[in-house]
Amino acid sequence: MTLLESVTPPDRYCSRCGQSVGPYLLNASGCAACRDARLYLDGMARAGPYDGVFREMVTKYKFGRDQHLDRPLGRLIKSAIEGRGWNGEIDALVPVPTTWYNRLRYRFRPAAQLARAVGGELHVPVLPLIRVIGKKYNQMDLPASLRPGNVRGVFKLHPRARPAGARLCIIDDVCTTGATLNEIARVLKKAGAATVYAAVVAKTEADQPIT
Ligand SMILES: [Zn+2]
Repeated sequence: MTLLESVTPPDRYCSRCGQSVGPYLLNASGCAACRDARLYLDGMARAGPYDGVFREMVTKYKFGRDQHLDRPLGRLIKSAIEGRGWNGEIDALVPVPTTWYNRLRYRFRPAAQLARAVGGELHVPVLPLIRVIGKKYNQMDLPASLRPGNVRGVFKLHPRARPAGARLCIIDDVCTTGATLNEIARVLKKAGAATVYAAVVAKTEADQPIT
């Protein structure tokens, strides 16, 4: 099986939050995990669960600083977006900004570089519309219940950004609770973006310990 063949078929995960689900447990309003949640995202694409080969590749890319993995990871995200069918409805890609703390840690900006790779595949520009002011805590160090509060207000629109009417797709490597993606979508929608999707390499499962 090739890497691209291991991308999860679109009917096996929630189009709203990215959670893995059985084929009969989905409908347009989401899955059991997100049906009651207020989501600003219009849709979610992910290549697979944060496990196995996906987890291995993301770990090597980010923590092993193997920046050449941006191309294969970008192709995985492209394939996930095509599975969702909104690949023709994206005007620009918006990378999740990297905090200074993480930039020093990784020595590069993983999401921005990934967005460039996806943009090259889809022939869509990358616009760094969002800046991060600085989170109080690293999301990884917090339990799920405290994550939305930790990101509230830390993402700001770039002063020259004019996203009114634009159809955007946020790019990141991993989605855990979705708090970061949802908060960025909220900021972009408030600034007038018409639609905001998100696409990532991998999504952690609801029952997976957050690490
Ligand atoms: Zn869902």
